[in-house]
Amino acid sequence: MQTFLDANRKRKVLAVDDEIINLEIISEILANSYEVVFAYNGKEAMDLLSDPEADYSLVLLDLMMPVMDGFEVIRLMRADVRLRKFPIIVMTSDKAAEVRSLRMGAADFITKPYDMPEVVLARCQAIIELSEDRSIIRSTERDPLTGLYSKDYFFVYIRRFLPQLTGDMDALVLDFDRFNIVNELLGREEGNRILKQTAELINTIILQSRGIACRTDGDIFYVYCERREDYESCIKEIQDTLNRESPSHSLRLRAGLYQPATGDRVPEAWFDRAKTACDRLRDRYNHCVGYYSRELYERFIYEEKLIADIDEAIAQHQLLVYYQPKYDIRGDKPVLTSAEALVRWDHTELGFISPGDFIPLFESNGLIRKIDRFVWRESAAQIRRIKDIYHVNLPVSVNVSRINFFDPELEDVLLSVIRDYDLQPRELILEITESAYANDEAHIDEVIADLRSKGFRIGMDDFGTGYSSLNMLTEMPIDILKLDMKFIRNMLVDEKSRKLIELVLDIARFLNVPVVAEGVEEEPQYLMLKEMGLDIIQGYYFSAPLPADEFERLIEKSIDSDTINQGII
Ligand code: C2E
Ligand code: MG
Ligand code: MG
Repeated sequence: MQTFLDANRKRKVLAVDDEIINLEIISEILANSYEVVFAYNGKEAMDLLSDPEADYSLVLLDLMMPVMDGFEVIRLMRADVRLRKFPIIVMTSDKAAEVRSLRMGAADFITKPYDMPEVVLARCQAIIELSEDRSIIRSTERDPLTGLYSKDYFFVYIRRFLPQLTGDMDALVLDFDRFNIVNELLGREEGNRILKQTAELINTIILQSRGIACRTDGDIFYVYCERREDYESCIKEIQDTLNRESPSHSLRLRAGLYQPATGDRVPEAWFDRAKTACDRLRDRYNHCVGYYSRELYERFIYEEKLIADIDEAIAQHQLLVYYQPKYDIRGDKPVLTSAEALVRWDHTELGFISPGDFIPLFESNGLIRKIDRFVWRESAAQIRRIKDIYHVNLPVSVNVSRINFFDPELEDVLLSVIRDYDLQPRELILEITESAYANDEAHIDEVIADLRSKGFRIGMDDFGTGYSSLNMLTEMPIDILKLDMKFIRNMLVDEKSRKLIELVLDIARFLNVPVVAEGVEEEPQYLMLKEMGLDIIQGYYFSAPLPADEFERLIEKSIDSDTINQGII
């Protein structure tokens, strides 16, 4: 392991002198051991050094040169954080200049005319070794917990040995889902044990051939390794091994991969990209390795823009609330019975953005709370308008993202919205997706029970996509069940979906709650659902989500044709 790093590569030496003969002599002495690059005056040397990827192990510097002399080069190099690390040996015949340059920070000197070649070579080698040891000592080499390299040292290492690497190498970032929970539930000691074991597994499973790894920021690992094709199975193997040994908690390990192209020489950037690819997997459970791509980068930039713009969007009413009607189909003819508020973003530069494009993003960073609060308030204002103008009570359901349940102000915020528009809590139905119940069930149940005791009604959204067992369902404090669209989509062709709908209807009857089917697009679906005894339907078959003014027109029409129900749900 890590054998590729014993350094037989040729290091680069920059020799600066205006006399070609001197450069030729130096080249003769050093060429076997080093790659020698020439510059003919101080200005040229600074130009070469200013390349951010310039990596010289030594600068051999003449002092007396036209355009820019050696003293000025020393001064400029010492003033630059990056260049300060490159050792300088001055080449001179003038004793006074020697002393002055050493004072300014040169590491050593070689007297002209040149000493014996072996002496010159030995001095260069000694200075290079000394400076490399120093740079290693400067950063703490190892992570005390796992024994892997520390992050700083990891990058020093990659940079130093980059030029000698042949073959394709990859940057891989490994991260756990919610590792803080492990520390909280199982204790820090167990958390540390898992991190240590992860480091061992990275060594034995991923770094079998060439490569190095480090740990950064707690539970994140960087791996730089020879390209392989089986990262998915490596990551799974690490995850499964960890889970076998810590059965009380199930860990999920994700990885992001970036494959540096030739000429792509900034290692920190590779790992930033790999991290982006890794973060994108947070909510995608079917893969454990994410690949960085151009599209991912563009998506990342797009998301950054949405995050930067959201406050202004709310302030300037770029967020629009659409209302999708729900119809009660229990009677002879379908009647309009309520609506779901669905947000859209009419972005000034990017145009119309649908919630599928921004809701998951804002859910992942917590900003969804702002959007949700805005939508609740808009919806309450709309309910009020409908009451005042059309004299009907039409409840509206709003989506409540999971994160709100950890907000101690949730109940107060909802109650103040209700109060401000003089409504009853039962008029604002709160839709919570089934998967929100998946973790911290007890806590969420408690918040829901509180909200229900204040009079709010709770609808379980996207039912059938989450993890709740039927058994759990019978104990859940809910008022309405919303079947996920995928069952409706498949019901005409797939017996299993039909059976599941029947089963849910049975449970709903037992719980005495109505069932809503969403995503009903065609008449045959509608007819079959009606026959099965479904209560409420939402979908394009009746209407797409409508802007507020169109929704109001629909209400007018429904009043005229007597197809409006004033709020069973
Ligand atoms: P959801 O709550 O399950 O909403 C139903 C989605 O199905 C809506 O998509 C709606 O436009 C779409 N839909 C309705 N009928 C049909 C149909 O017949 N066929 C098809 N193919 N689709 C239909 P939309 O508006 O794009 O919203 C997507 C999701 O975004 C919503 O799913 C909800 O989870 C989330 N969302 C929307 N607005 C908000 C909000 O204000 N807050 C939060 N937290 N989430 C929101
Ligand atoms: Mg919904
Ligand atoms: Mg839904």
